[in-house]
Amino acid sequence: MRAVVFEQFGEPAEVREVPDPKPAEHGVVVRVEATGLCRSDWHGWTGHDPDITLPHVPGHELAGVVESVGSRVGGWRPGDRVTVPFVCACGTCPACAAGDQQVCERQTQPGFHHWGSFAQYVALDHADVNLVAVPDDMAYATAAALGCRFATAFRAVVQQGRVAAGEWVSVHGCGGVGLSAVMIAAAAGARVVAVDVSPRALDLARTCGAAECVDATGLPDPAAAVRELTGGGAHLSLDALGSPATCAASVNGLRRRGRHVQVGLLPSPDGTTPVPLARAIALELELLGSHGMAAHAYPGMLRLVRSGVLRPELLLTSTITLDAAPAALAAMDTARGAGVTVIEPWHRK
Ligand SMILES: [Zn+2]
Ligand SMILES: [Zn+2]
Repeated sequence: MRAVVFEQFGEPAEVREVPDPKPAEHGVVVRVEATGLCRSDWHGWTGHDPDITLPHVPGHELAGVVESVGSRVGGWRPGDRVTVPFVCACGTCPACAAGDQQVCERQTQPGFHHWGSFAQYVALDHADVNLVAVPDDMAYATAAALGCRFATAFRAVVQQGRVAAGEWVSVHGCGGVGLSAVMIAAAAGARVVAVDVSPRALDLARTCGAAECVDATGLPDPAAAVRELTGGGAHLSLDALGSPATCAASVNGLRRRGRHVQVGLLPSPDGTTPVPLARAIALELELLGSHGMAAHAYPGMLRLVRSGVLRPELLLTSTITLDAAPAALAAMDTARGAGVTVIEPWHRK
């Protein structure tokens, strides 16, 4: 098969022939029809993820068709249209037994723990735990974005963030996950303040339902702008980018008893990030993390997508071939707020 491979962190990836994957006993191989290009892939390529061993094939936001199944898989057959959460769970550890597959103790993330979906085929573990059926009327490109950014935003806003109609919700960083969060919070009846440094990202945020937009370019204190617009601060705020500045702005833009949800990854040399904790004490803030979403939680989200309440297809801004993926991956550093790019591995120019 053809796949995007990199041999060294930060060195250009290339498209080349590699052996086809085989399914584990409990796994499947999926023919990739669409796979999203995500900032997490860029983090992995630059060497921020200790789970990656070289050489490596990135890609974790995929949708496609089951090609082959392992001998112990009961629920899936070749030809089934599927997607997966980016956290593939083991199904048997204490976290999985409690229904918290998104924080599985033995999780395998395609494109991180093993070769991912920037390829014509990808192997996925524990298929009966992790595969999600894609409705016949949903495009593969739309379904691909569900597995990471949209599902992550859904859990962050609805489950961890406990959004309520009429609340102010601020979203710091309007890339794929941030725009998804804007759409989901607006659909839940919240008034959303979108914050970004890119006018294009803020335009997309407006399309997704943001009531107010803050262009943080050159703003010394974006949190003050959020507090001003919301009459004292947001009830719920997300750092959807992942940086010390956006994390602090999210926390500082909350009102009393507000909830901050950290969604964007926060790589740092010593693994720590400064957070304005004094404010969390004084205002009794809640600081929460959110990490993907379990496969069993997908049906509720899929119902909202199929009914048209949520429209993840609006986030798709471009489609590229596998051959264009190495350059696009390298450009993710500066491509913030450009919406969602989907790779179609079988499409060749
Ligand atoms: Zn992702
Ligand atoms: Zn588990």
